[in-house]
Amino acid sequence: MSSLFCIIDDKHVPIYRILWISDVPHFCGESDCLYEGRYEVRLEQGESLWTNRDERDEVLKVLEKWHTGDDLDAGGSDSENWS
Ligand SMILES: [Zn+2]
Repeated sequence: MSSLFCIIDDKHVPIYRILWISDVPHFCGESDCLYEGRYEVRLEQGESLWTNRDERDEVLKVLEKWHTGDDLDAGGSDSENWS
């Protein structure tokens, strides 16, 4: 199923709003940090979401698919246009 959304931290997030995704888990040294060991997903307008590694990998896959346009081929055969 193609979708413009992916699930991050139990939220359906439009993938075109994602600016970048952290490659390494967050660590800032603060003893009361809520996000240590989680991966940051940066959205437009200065928002961030925090996710785990499995979810981050899923998001990366969805983003990659979106950018390469795989979903555009899902509409059936275009072989008759070859002539
Ligand atoms: Zn922190």
